[in-house]
Amino acid sequence: MKIILLGPPGAGKGTQAQLITERFKLAHISTGEMLRTAIRNKTETGLKAESFMDKGQLVPDDVVIALVQERLQEPDCENGYILDGFPRTVAQAEALDTITEIDAVIDINLPDDFLVERLSGRRVCPVCERSYHVELLNGATTCPDDGAVLVQREDDEPKTIKSRLKVYYQKTAPLIAYYKAKGIVHAVDGTQYYKVLGENIADELKAVQ
Ligand code: AMP
Repeated sequence: MKIILLGPPGAGKGTQAQLITERFKLAHISTGEMLRTAIRNKTETGLKAESFMDKGQLVPDDVVIALVQERLQEPDCENGYILDGFPRTVAQAEALDTITEIDAVIDINLPDDFLVERLSGRRVCPVCERSYHVELLNGATTCPDDGAVLVQREDDEPKTIKSRLKVYYQKTAPLIAYYKAKGIVHAVDGTQYYKVLGENIADELKAVQ
């Protein structure tokens, strides 16, 4: 199965991608995570991407497409994968069409006020990349899974959140119509508790399998 997870920033794509990859034994491809690793390692891609990411803007299509193209050739992608955060523009979707055929697009819907609240309260583990909300951490400052000190992503600042949402509606939301035309979109309600949402997504995917 080759799946795309679509939805605005803060919709829970990363969390859902982790649940789905464990359940369906797929490779998890998060372009955001790949880019953050590239920045940490100061690679050429990281240097190109950093200034865009800091401002909440999209990294240029050619940089991200090259990254994904290379990643999809790795052996763990042979049994299927889930794309989390890619494609984010119609140009990226068109490039992906030349590489492979996607089986399903999961479109996670939720209103903006949920997103702002989630993103501003989000803390991430720099080791396992899991996200947590401050309210559920009960004052804890370390990852419940591996003990690493949780951090706030630089692009989760209120000012940057606004520009990320704007970019989503301008550049990424048109992909819903793009994939609807192919008849492969499955819309789900992202306001639900994450485990319930995970079950909904699994049901949608079982029907595709
Ligand atoms: P994410 O972790 O998916 O929220 O992505 C964090 C940031 O990485 C985004 O705000 C963009 O700056 C950049 N990014 C991730 N995926 C893409 C993509 N497919 N195209 C362009 N920029 C991306």
